[in-house]
Amino acid sequence: MSGQKPGEEACTPGLDLTAFWSVTYGLYVVTTKAGEKKNGCLVNTFIQTASEPCAVCISLSKKNLTHDLVMGSGRFAAQVLEKETPLRFLGTWGFRTGRDTDKFEGVEHREGATGCPVVLEHTLASFEVEVTEKVDCGTHTLFLGRTVKAEKLKPGEPLTYAYYHEVKGGRTGRNAPGYLASRAHDRDIERSHEMKKYVCAVCGYTYDPEKGDPDNGVDAGTPFEKLPDDWVCPVCGAGKDQFESEG
Ligand code: FE
Repeated sequence: MSGQKPGEEACTPGLDLTAFWSVTYGLYVVTTKAGEKKNGCLVNTFIQTASEPCAVCISLSKKNLTHDLVMGSGRFAAQVLEKETPLRFLGTWGFRTGRDTDKFEGVEHREGATGCPVVLEHTLASFEVEVTEKVDCGTHTLFLGRTVKAEKLKPGEPLTYAYYHEVKGGRTGRNAPGYLASRAHDRDIERSHEMKKYVCAVCGYTYDPEKGDPDNGVDAGTPFEKLPDDWVCPVCGAGKDQFESEG
């Protein structure tokens, strides 16, 4: 082991990874069902690739259980999330693993036309897709597919990756393509501010006292020490004792 922390891997000269921050994305829950096992994860890489046929693609980390299940099932559903989606909900799909958690427990969903579970909470639109091609991209596999069902579930404004980062204080999952750029960006912010932030050791969420945790009734300007004892990480649900000071 090199002792290198995740996200601090050596960068290729000439690659300013923060440049990737100017690429715009949405945020989507991608689900699938292979045999009796269903699972899902949070991705920012769902796009329409052609209009005729109506084709789409997603990129999934090979480390994700959902990746292996889509490999087996050859189908997936992608749900467009609404702007108001709480961090806790995003954390369930982005920072937990389906290997030891049933992410669907307590989450309203139904079986879709392809057999994939369609998540109904915080979902503006859902697409069900049959995989037509798989492209090995290194850490990730690109799944190209044909859309077999597309439906709008409710009106609203979609959640963007930028909003998730800048307004909601969300972090990039370690299996997301933008993870390294995210860490570089965070380090820049940390260097430019003298703020007592606390980081969740479980998921990497940073509690920023300047922002508070408005989704859970904590006003901006609340120091970490003044958070209620029963306050939990809005992303993964870990308790206050799982947080460490950033100094
Ligand atoms: Fe957490």
